[in-house]
Amino acid sequence: PRQGKKLGIALVGLGYYAKNLLAPALEKTGECYLAGIVTGTPSKIPEWKEKYNIADKNVYSYDTFDKIKDNPDIDIIYVVLPNSMHKEYTIRAAKAGKHVICEKPMALNPAECREMIAACDKAKVKLAIGYRLHSEPHTQEIMRLKREKDFGAVKLVEAADGFKIGDPTQWRLKKALAGGGAMYDVGVYCINGARYATGEQPIAVTAQEYKTDPVKFKEVDETITWQMEFSSGAVATCTTTYAASTERLYVAYEKGWAELRPAFGYGPIKGKTNKGEMDIPHTIHQALQMDDFSRCVKENKESPVNGYEGLKDLLVVEAIYKSIGSGKRELV
Ligand code: NDP
Repeated sequence: PRQGKKLGIALVGLGYYAKNLLAPALEKTGECYLAGIVTGTPSKIPEWKEKYNIADKNVYSYDTFDKIKDNPDIDIIYVVLPNSMHKEYTIRAAKAGKHVICEKPMALNPAECREMIAACDKAKVKLAIGYRLHSEPHTQEIMRLKREKDFGAVKLVEAADGFKIGDPTQWRLKKALAGGGAMYDVGVYCINGARYATGEQPIAVTAQEYKTDPVKFKEVDETITWQMEFSSGAVATCTTTYAASTERLYVAYEKGWAELRPAFGYGPIKGKTNKGEMDIPHTIHQALQMDDFSRCVKENKESPVNGYEGLKDLLVVEAIYKSIGSGKRELV
């Protein structure tokens, strides 16, 4: 049954993130709830139905997905599939007349992002990318420091996000499904982080790629380092990797500094500045994120993490791979 004025969300792709983070977070949300599921694995259905009290009519496969347009219980479709499937399912969701949250990275390239934005515009539905950190208070403090200039203008950013990847057979190591390696998976957090720390889109990048295991990383990148230039004069230096654990966002201003470490995971995020520790409690990012988007839908407001936010990151990703190929500085 519909839960009062809460919006109904359907999760598409019942993998790790949907099962362990999004579904539990949807038990903490005030503006939305888990109303439906879309899965290609029938054996997953009974557990989900029972745990979250999901009606049979709100359970779909990838084949029956388009029928969701006739289901008034579903207001928002949340695409939590491998990266290469984001475009197709976002566009099908829009054609079904549903608002969409699409996981990061938004798609495989800027052209796909533009198609997704156009499809959502045409269908008059809202689109958000799963950038949960924009709803996270330490991250919002980094954005505030930029906006209110407590320490003056941003001069330098250092960002790193990586982890040691396991199972060599997973889709994250297959180019057709993932688009690329660490860059597509967690490198986008460094790009996005440098963008919210500076409030600017970079104008140029220079990038380098390193591979220590050419068998495991036959199809995708293992480690990439890169530098970004901003028109204000700010400079960012970044690392993403599948070789080791690293997670940090450091911002140097004219008169001080701020650091989040860890900066990009599910938390607790920890922050400090040259003035001391940030006294900010841990939150469930995904619950805040889905409530924020639900408010945008209810109040007919554009999401701060709309399709253009995803597109801007993919434009930088494209320039990074171009720079690796050319060995030169490339404009974004
Ligand atoms: P998983 O591999 O754990 O889950 C993906 C699910 O997609 C599968 O369980 C399956 O669900 C479905 N699927 C459909 N077709 C395929 C296919 N060909 N290969 C593999 N899976 C398929 O991935 P994650 O949950 O870790 O990641 C999913 C998305 O979420 C990615 O885009 C990732 O970048 C993003 N993500 C975002 C995070 C964030 O913090 N914002 C954190 C983690 C991931 P079923 O069996 O139900 O059909």
